[in-house]
Amino acid sequence: MKVLVVSGGVISGLGKGITTSSLGRLLKARGIPVTILKIDPYLNVDAGTMNPYQHGEVFVLDDGTEADLDLGNYERFLGQSLSGAHNLTTGKIYRAVIEKERRGDYLGNTVQIIPHVTGEIKRAIREVAQSAGAEVVLVEVGGTVGDIESMPFLEALRELSYELGDGHMVFVHTTLVPVVGPVGEAKTKPTQHSVRELRAIGIRPNLIVARGPLPLSPDIKAKISLFCDVPPEAVISVPDQSTVYEVPLVLEAQGVGPLLERLLGLPERRPDYGAWKEFLATYRRAQGSIEIAVVGKYTELRDAYLSHSEAFHHCQGHLGCDIRLQWYDAEDIAKNPALLGRIERSDGVLVPGGFGARGVEGKVLAIELARTRGIPYLGVCYGFQMAAIEFARNVLSLPGANTTEVDAQTPDPVVCLLEQQKGLSEMGGTMRLGTQRVVLTPGSKIAQCYGATEIWERHRHRYEINPAYLDRFQAHGLKITGHAVDGRLESFELANHPFFVGVQFHPEFLSRPEAPHPLYLALVRAALARKEVPIPAATPPIVS
Ligand code: GLN
Repeated sequence: MKVLVVSGGVISGLGKGITTSSLGRLLKARGIPVTILKIDPYLNVDAGTMNPYQHGEVFVLDDGTEADLDLGNYERFLGQSLSGAHNLTTGKIYRAVIEKERRGDYLGNTVQIIPHVTGEIKRAIREVAQSAGAEVVLVEVGGTVGDIESMPFLEALRELSYELGDGHMVFVHTTLVPVVGPVGEAKTKPTQHSVRELRAIGIRPNLIVARGPLPLSPDIKAKISLFCDVPPEAVISVPDQSTVYEVPLVLEAQGVGPLLERLLGLPERRPDYGAWKEFLATYRRAQGSIEIAVVGKYTELRDAYLSHSEAFHHCQGHLGCDIRLQWYDAEDIAKNPALLGRIERSDGVLVPGGFGARGVEGKVLAIELARTRGIPYLGVCYGFQMAAIEFARNVLSLPGANTTEVDAQTPDPVVCLLEQQKGLSEMGGTMRLGTQRVVLTPGSKIAQCYGATEIWERHRHRYEINPAYLDRFQAHGLKITGHAVDGRLESFELANHPFFVGVQFHPEFLSRPEAPHPLYLALVRAALARKEVPIPAATPPIVS
């Protein structure tokens, strides 16, 4: 087993996840079987119970794990699906250790951070490498070096490096090189301090990835090399890029591939990026912009909707049109209906997933506009449920229609709790989660998008469309087009509308740069048609 560790210094939010994903892609481009594991040093067992304002979107995996959003970056960069074992948290590790202690696995011993907690961390890393059949496992340590929370993880990685021996483990440290002052001077001191912090824990970085607004000059690289004890060719500059998908090539251009091969004792291979480079070329020359209105309630933090934005980037790199996302806070729409005028001028509308009462009325107003003005619309999860509520209120003339999540006393519970959810007392990991089979109606618009009538998509919800209203929906032109194997409603679409599709599942989690999701492509194509921009002829690869 070979391990590549990515730690972070100075501040969080440096793009450690993108660095890790890009390093993974760089190794994968050489035909090396790789996998990635994320360490989140918080005490939550998983990300499922956290508000998106805390750490951004909750990314759902095939097995239903509610994971950190970086797992989404890994899947998109590697083009591989991962399982819950690839997201370690302090909560998960402590829970495992305490369960073992109660079972008597450590009988007679005092249970301690070292060796028991560190031992559990090492066991989890080894297990992931083994089950994934990976030659190199990349481990990203969340947080910033020096945080109390991450200490046991860094200690475990230090121990692992000793156990594996020379040439089996590489440490990459990502830091910030800020540019300050009137002459725009790049400052290396924060990097020096954070490397010193890392060395105090017993870890010596092999590579330093310097993040900042501008490329590093050779003398700044030389300075970092001297103070931090790494060769100049191992100081890598990653300035901000127009798209994160450029980063593997930025690393490649600085010789990171051969350097890693040398450090990990791997034979030299030529990288093959395949469709990745085509994607980037199309992305860069995108023109003819369209605007998609995204109506949500966490719009101040773009990371809260990361997979949606990425899905549109994937479409841009496939269709070659510049896609601009316009973010609308649903609460503002309800307070200031003038915003609807702006939404009306957009070329498409997306209402993503969500929870709770805040913002729902604004979402309903935006959906009504999309439905009545023929603006292409994609409703995802809560955006699907809200579309049902809008339809019930304004077409079926049931003005009090609502979801019981918002109004338990609604006279028309068009959206209600799933049967299996009734009586549940625990909130963590108890929604309807993960990949489920969905059967689509032959000849429906959605089946045409996928080019299939059987698909697999990821889910995360507690409520569903109330089957008692389906006949009335259908009678008024809302066609039911998708069902789960147990008969549960999964999708609908409007007849007599250019594109109005709602889905109970989350297509955004399966979109990838080399395989944009068919539903996002369909929305963008409908938006292009509305704007009368010629639609590129290329047939998209199908995600299933
Ligand atoms: N709040 C809704 C539910 O639980 C929708 C969830 C979501 O959008 N992910 O069913």
